[in-house]
Amino acid sequence: AKTAGRNTVRFFDPAMQAILLVRMLLESNLRLALSQNQFQLYYQVQVNADGKFLGAEALIRWWHPDRGFISPAEFIPLAEETGLIIPIGQWVLETACAQLKQWEKSAATANLSLAVNVSAKQFQLTSFVETLSEIVARHQINPALLKIELTESAILDNIDATTEKMRELKKLGIAFSMDDFGTGYSSLAYLQRLPLNQLKIDQSFVRDLSHDENDATIVRAIIALGINLGLNVIAEGVETSAQRAFLIKHSCTAFQGYLFSKPLPMEEFMSLLEQEHSA
Ligand code: C2E
Ligand code: CA
Ligand code: CA
Ligand code: CA
Repeated sequence: AKTAGRNTVRFFDPAMQAILLVRMLLESNLRLALSQNQFQLYYQVQVNADGKFLGAEALIRWWHPDRGFISPAEFIPLAEETGLIIPIGQWVLETACAQLKQWEKSAATANLSLAVNVSAKQFQLTSFVETLSEIVARHQINPALLKIELTESAILDNIDATTEKMRELKKLGIAFSMDDFGTGYSSLAYLQRLPLNQLKIDQSFVRDLSHDENDATIVRAIIALGINLGLNVIAEGVETSAQRAFLIKHSCTAFQGYLFSKPLPMEEFMSLLEQEHSA
């Protein structure tokens, strides 16, 4: 190994080697996860200022047989790098639409919207519009109840093609929310042109709202911007009533966070809704 030259030496760094092995193992496990039904969608409620339920965001969970719960923050980036996000994202859309169809059948859940996270790589497939239209048609769901969450970087990456796709899907009635808003490189010029329905304030700005003057200023500015652009604004990561009060005071109209509920497996989410409906 010593004669192999300087550039190869780093491959024999045991720490690096361990990291690479863990990654490879995770990747091969991820390949099996879909066929072995290890994914699940959890649902986190979204509410208005009166606490009325507006809908939910679908969040993926991976239960690995040996490792237990693996956070999407850990495996989604790997899935994006390896292209596995395509079949995983497809599964998410299928499962979310099947769930939406179920909700239509019960008075407690009939008008709730469902927000689904779609990765840049998945959205940028030429076939995405066709794929999603086909899923919506096959499940016979009301497309107005489906909302796609895209990050700023997903949109900016390929703005012309992305805008065109968003327009086509919006014609079908599907809504769009810009996820993690404020963390990327938004510019007013494109924000005005995008067919968005909603801005979602990232939880990193909501977290320290009560004691970080910068965060408070950013949040106020995002809400004002959204209102001026005619968009609905939702805040994520709302954990305290002080955060909620600040957001309401500055005219934010939708909220999501542990203050209302954690993301829940389908059955628990349904009982939360039925409880609320009968209350
Ligand atoms: P995100 O889209 O920004 O989702 C919000 C994250 O904040 C979720 O983490 C949610 O569980 C968490 N959260 C909700 N309320 C609170 C709160 O009050 N306090 C705090 N501290 N956290 C809260 P999660 O479920 O671990 O997901 C992490 C990220 O993984 C998501 O961030 C999203 O980018 C990605 N992700 C999750 N599900 C999917 C999916 O189905 N497809 C894709 N492409 N990405 C997904
Ligand atoms: Ca999201
Ligand atoms: Ca976020
Ligand atoms: Ca901060």
